[in-house]
Amino acid sequence: MGHRGWITARCYICSKKLNVVKDTVYYCPKCFSKGHRILYCDADAKRLHYRCPFDGSELKLY
Ligand SMILES: [Zn+2]
Ligand SMILES: [Zn+2]
Repeated sequence: MGHRGWITARCYICSKKLNVVKDTVYYCPKCFSKGHRILYCDADAKRLHYRCPFDGSELKLY
């Protein structure tokens, strides 16, 4: 198990490839604090009204 870095990820909703450096990527601080590394692309974050579908927390820019 190597460190593959945290540069690219996939959107949890649409599986779009995200570049966390270049793209606008959103995450839920609450889910992250629980160890769930769930990311959302810009379009899906907008569709979710910037709310986490699991706990209703406000999504933050990654
Ligand atoms: Zn997406
Ligand atoms: Zn959440």
